[in-house]
This record gives sequence, structure tokens and C-alpha cells, in this order.
Amino acid sequence: MNNQTTDIPTKINWEEIRAQFPVLQQEVNGKKLVYLDNGASSQMPKSVSDRIDAYHKNEHANVHRGIHSLSQKATDAFEATRTKVRDFINAGSLEEIIYTTGTTDSINLVAQSYGRKNFKAGDEILVSEMEHHANIVPWQMIAKETGAKLKVIPMNDKGELIMDKFYELFSDKIKMVAVVHVSNALGTINPVEEIIAAAHKQNVPVLIDGAQAVPHSKVDVQALDADFYAFSAHKMCGPTGFGILYGKKDLLNAMPPYRGGGDMIDKVTFEKTTWNDLPHKFEAGTPPISAGVGLGAGIDFLNQIGMEAIAEREHELLEYATEKLNQIEGLKIVGTADKKASVISFLLDGIHPTDAGTILDQQGIAVRTGHHCAQPIMQHYDIPGTLRASISFYNNEEDIDRLVEGIELVKEFFG
Ligand code: PMP
Repeated sequence: MNNQTTDIPTKINWEEIRAQFPVLQQEVNGKKLVYLDNGASSQMPKSVSDRIDAYHKNEHANVHRGIHSLSQKATDAFEATRTKVRDFINAGSLEEIIYTTGTTDSINLVAQSYGRKNFKAGDEILVSEMEHHANIVPWQMIAKETGAKLKVIPMNDKGELIMDKFYELFSDKIKMVAVVHVSNALGTINPVEEIIAAAHKQNVPVLIDGAQAVPHSKVDVQALDADFYAFSAHKMCGPTGFGILYGKKDLLNAMPPYRGGGDMIDKVTFEKTTWNDLPHKFEAGTPPISAGVGLGAGIDFLNQIGMEAIAEREHELLEYATEKLNQIEGLKIVGTADKKASVISFLLDGIHPTDAGTILDQQGIAVRTGHHCAQPIMQHYDIPGTLRASISFYNNEEDIDRLVEGIELVKEFFG
């Protein structure tokens, strides 16, 4: 992940940017909304919802099928997103950008297609202790079918991968490494460049779960040399139901389709079917067209601000929030890695996260509580869950101050 601070426009008016998010202007439970659940789903600026609306009003038809003008218009709008995604993550070609319904779908695609073809009994798939369930369960499922096994890179108590153990676990049994770029539960930024380089020395492909990285920093899949890279539109100012699998062309070409149906075929007879070319080979059936158009608008919005500026602003807010939260007596931050994105998981002494989250909600403060779909992390710390504030560039210092006041109220409430 690139946290470089060069080329940042000197003056960005973050309040003006925040004002472009209508959802943030509302009151919740009688209080101005403080939205700190961006890790679960980001909010959508008006330009994105307007673009989706305009698509529905003026351009909608099914894609890739009709020769009629409206279908062509819809296809152009939908395919324009592929170019934007390619440029956004610096992929080598449009064929390497597969439309999916999200990170989960992208990882399942690789597990079911690549895994079914390449894994056999005794093989190992290396994941880490801090994976989201989306980067554990699909591998477990294919492992069960093929006789392969999961191996786990452990983390230390700061929430950092123990890289010595990674090297120790590496053997010629490993057939895939699947690691999260940024942990959604801890905020840890993992050394994925190092992991990818080490795996490639053994000719092992690497899938990176980039759900929490792409929305918050400049990701360059070619510089990383990732084989597969997965992310979701709804965490990057886009709509739900849409996501991306980046894959290297040679790998994708050698993989069988994941789902069968319309669009992914070349010629169908009852005896035999041949497949369409990339990327369509992996895109069976009518896709979520308007959501795809919406992702394009989301990328335009992020590009207008610039990912370097976004990373810098979020880092500023992370530091502000970390300092403020650390001053609260009885509050313990879970996940204190040296390299962190703007996610803060924490516990309040003697107060269950769900109870605390409920009181915060009554004050209009939206945080996440629970295991954050990363139960092994909770098992590591022997806790049922945490409260999590995940910060976006459209948050501000006032949001953090409101969170701090809210936590003080929670403490008062529970005595
Ligand atoms: N991986 C990580 C790190 C995530 O944060 C999430 C979403 N919380 C996912 C995977 C799954 O994403 P989606 O639900 O959009 O498929």
C-alpha cells in the first residue's frame, strides 16, 4: 500500500466533500448522525446515486446482447467501469478485470475455479489468523472437497503477522497463499509485497483480499505483483451487489468457468459448450448493471479527490482518534500494529460491546460491535467481540469528539 504524500493538492476542503453525502446530513435518534461504520459499508455521494438514477431513467437495457441502441448505451456505460477499474488499480488489461458481486464472490470464484482444478489431497492453502471469514470459508470448502488443508500464519498481540512463522510454514505443499491486505477488524496493513515476493519464489500464486485497502489508498496490482486481488464496490462510495476480481490473464485463461449460463459461452450445443473469452468467461447471466455503472461513478469521485490525499486525511483522523481514545480510562484498543489503516477496535472495561454500541446508537453514533466476521481474531484475544470505529475521509474531528463524549456517557450509564 502506498502512503506517499507527493502530488497532494495543497488545499482540500473536506467539509465541502462531506457535504456531498446526503445520508450524513440526517439525525438519528434525535442527534446528528456520526457514521463510523465505514468498514462495513461506506456512504454514497450524491454524484454516485445521481449517476445510478440517470442510468435507470435513460440508459437501461440488458447488456452485451441487443444490437438495439439502448442496449448498446447500457453496455457502454457498464463497460466504461471496467476501464476505470483497470486504471484505478493499474491492471495490465481489461481482460483481467472480472465483474463479481463483491469480495466474497471474487474469492469464491478463485477457490472454486482455481482450487478445484489445482488442489489435491495433501496440498496446503496458507491464510492468516486475521482473515475475514470471506477469505477462510471458501478455502475450507474447497479444501474439504479436494483433501487439501488450511495452514495459518499467526499474528502477535499487536495484531501483526509473525513473518518468521510465515517463512517457517512455507513448504512445497503450499499451493495458494490468501491474505488480507488491511484487516477490517484491527486495521493492520499487512506486508503483502513481501508475502507475494516470497510466494513467487516458490511459484505459488497469491490472492489478496483488498476489501479494506482499495477504498483507502493507492493500490497498484502490477507493482504488488498480486495474482488475484478482490474488492467490493460498496466500501468505496459505490453501491452494494458489485465487486471486482483482478486476476493475471494467464492464470484466468487457464481456469475453468465458475458459473455457467448466458454471456459466458462461445457456442452451445447439447453435446458440448465452448467458453467466451476473458473477462466474460467468468460473468454468467445478467449482471448488476446499474451497480456496475455506480462503481464507475464511485471511482470518478475518489479520483477527483485523489487516493493519496484520502490516505493522508484518514491517517490524520486515525491519529487524532487514537490519541483521544487512549485518554479514556478503561478503554483498550485492540490492534496496535505499527502500520494501521483508519480502523480502531476497542473494549470498555466491564462493558459488553453490544451494550456499549446500543447506548452509542441512542446518541446517533454508528459503530460496529461484534466479531466483525473475523472470529479467529476474537479467539486470539479470547474476547467475544469489540466495538469498532472505522473512519473515512468524510468523517471529521467533530465525529471523533462525539464518539469520545458518547463513550463517556456509556461509562456513566453502566456506572
Ligand atoms: N474481506 C474484508 C477484509 C472485508 O472487510 C469484507 C467486508 N466486511 C469482506 C472481505 C467481504 O466483503 P463483501 O461482504 O462485500 O463481499
